Amino acid sequence: MSVDFEHSPRAREYLERVETFIREEINPREENYLRELLNSENVWQVSPLVEELKGKARSQGLWNLFLPDEVHGAGLSNVEYAPLAELMGRSHIASEVFNCNAPDTGNMEVLLHYGSDEQRKRWLAHLLDGEIRSAFCMTEPDVASSDATNIQARALIEGDEVVLDGVKWWCTNAGHPRCEFMIFMGLTDPHAHRYAKHSTVLVPRDTPGVSVERMLPVMGFHDAPSGHGEVRFDGVRLPLSAVIGEPGQGLAIVQSRLGPGRVHHCMRLIGLAEVALELACRRAVKRTAFGKPLANLGGNRERIAQARAAIDQARLLVLNAAWQLDVKGIKGALGAVSQIKFVVPTMAQEVIDMAIQIHGGAGLSNDLPLAGAWAAARSLRLADGPDEVHRGFVARLELAPYYSSTLDA
Ligand SMILES: Cc1cc2nc3c(=O)[nH]c(=O)nc-3n(C[C@H](O)[C@H](O)[C@H](O)COP(=O)(O)OP(=O)(O)OC[C@H]3O[C@@H](n4cnc5c(N)ncnc54)[C@H](O)[C@@H]3O)c2cc1C
Repeated sequence: MSVDFEHSPRAREYLERVETFIREEINPREENYLRELLNSENVWQVSPLVEELKGKARSQGLWNLFLPDEVHGAGLSNVEYAPLAELMGRSHIASEVFNCNAPDTGNMEVLLHYGSDEQRKRWLAHLLDGEIRSAFCMTEPDVASSDATNIQARALIEGDEVVLDGVKWWCTNAGHPRCEFMIFMGLTDPHAHRYAKHSTVLVPRDTPGVSVERMLPVMGFHDAPSGHGEVRFDGVRLPLSAVIGEPGQGLAIVQSRLGPGRVHHCMRLIGLAEVALELACRRAVKRTAFGKPLANLGGNRERIAQARAAIDQARLLVLNAAWQLDVKGIKGALGAVSQIKFVVPTMAQEVIDMAIQIHGGAGLSNDLPLAGAWAAARSLRLADGPDEVHRGFVARLELAPYYSSTLDA
């Protein structure tokens, strides 16, 4: 099958419109927004600027672009949406402005595919409208959560209720004042088959027994106003109708939200790496040391060339994964998706690190977006599964034909 990554006319039109919106509406105001946020006494607040921009983006039809179905989204394929995610990754706030930010995107997909009519009406509709935010609570401090079958917080069925107990952490969006529900994954039947023990439950944020205990910084950055929270669920009682899909379907539901989401994350990181390379090049030609522009000192040209090649290689790999998702579906594309998940964050981390170095001390300050960008790239080597788990999966696929039994691979 031949692969053609030329933008379709529809994708080209969206690219132009998103690029224009970011250039004209977001870029001129973003630096000021970030400075104000940094100096604000309470960073966990809804930003009037982001709300205003959301309204404008929506009125221009630049809304829920990640959703491939035409009723709720723009009807774009993964290959068509990927370059839009790259553009959004160049800005701190763009993905939220277009209602395309994680983890709400994954939660919308879950509710679209598995939610009951009631869950869709009460929660999905408001998420699609960008009126509320949501969190996804799987990871736990007490167990190695990169193996989702380890999850031990309880989601026990008692009569016509489900009762939740346990502590989750790294729940992105938990600090957002408009985070109104959380998707909780917990153990329902310890004796069931390994892949059928867990359930996912939709938990309204104000349910008695739910408390956000603290917000966790990522290497000093709080990623406000969304943030990453540690959340306690203490005897939280909900009607059985709060279970998403069927009890025992939790693991399958969790897996299903991770295919396109990883393409989005990786393309956003490619956008971030492009910004870092641009900043590095500007600095390298303008600043002089030892009588020469930095670009002409030491191995800086080599590093810049290497960064360009690394970004372009990574982009092609991600487009390939997006294409496989489009033609083979999530199951058929799992290997390609795991490849990008361990290649792109490391690539972005290295390019951003090079840009920090070329900026000297300024690169580490908050005057430039580089330190925050480095922390974001670094964190994605863990978020959505550590590099090693994805490498292990790709190795298993690669080795499978050489083993006599698939169980050995
Ligand atoms: C910024 C950020 C946002 C996040 N957002 C969310 C969120 O919204 N919701 C949520 O539920 N979670 C979230 N997470 C959590 C994230 O998904 C987990 O941290 C990740 O899955 C790893 O789980 P763990 O921390 O328990 O590490 P562990 O499972 O304890 O793993 C620790 C280390 O063990 C090694 N390891 C594990 N498995 C293997 C293997 N198979 N082969 C080799 N080595 C291995 C790796 O070095 C790994 O890093 C977020 C994390 C970060 C940093």
